[in-house]
Amino acid sequence: MFKIFTDFDGTISTTDVGDALFDRFADTNWSGVVQEWIDGKISSKEVFRRGCESSSLTKQQLEAFCDQQQIDPYFAEFIAYCRRQGHPVIVLSDGLDYYIQRILNNHGFGELQVYANELVFMDHDKIRPEFPYFEKGCLICGNCKGFHLRAHRNDGDILVYIGDGYSDRCAVPEADVLFAKNDLKNYCVERNIPFNEFITFAEVVQKLQQIEENLNRMGK
Ligand SMILES: [Mg+2]
Ligand SMILES: [Zn+2]
Repeated sequence: MFKIFTDFDGTISTTDVGDALFDRFADTNWSGVVQEWIDGKISSKEVFRRGCESSSLTKQQLEAFCDQQQIDPYFAEFIAYCRRQGHPVIVLSDGLDYYIQRILNNHGFGELQVYANELVFMDHDKIRPEFPYFEKGCLICGNCKGFHLRAHRNDGDILVYIGDGYSDRCAVPEADVLFAKNDLKNYCVERNIPFNEFITFAEVVQKLQQIEENLNRMGK
């Protein structure tokens, strides 16, 4: 059976919400912190620890910020397609659950299964991250996507992964069908890793349809 995993930031949401959030609310050189992570100098756990620690942000401010965020215009079509075909869709994010859930709710997708790091509100305007899946993963990702793909794989499954960035790297060797754009696309090109290019979920649906038709033709 097909099991479909998708990144959230920059893949479902049109902007990288986590990045934009700390860019706006963290009192630190945020792009410098992100660059250290891209260069492999610090884990994403450390990225969020620094981001949260230097941020002043109330729940109301976060919610107002979330309510301005847009999602891929073809995401609804993609979800409808997966439902018709009976493919489960799971959101895997190395971002923070609170904004992901709020934005999915806003757009009518609140029932999707999400695995992400947790954002905890402390008193008034302080936040901290928690990493419920950290120990199970590669110990570099806060929430390692490779772990979740391995944990969901049963014999005969076709695991599909859709992503756009560096936080998707650990999913790459675990996926049977990979969709990539932006930084993840560049990462695959540099390493000669095969992938399907996409811009929006419209291309993902098209390609999945093709793959399924081919499999049916071959009698699988
Ligand atoms: Mg992303
Ligand atoms: Zn990882």
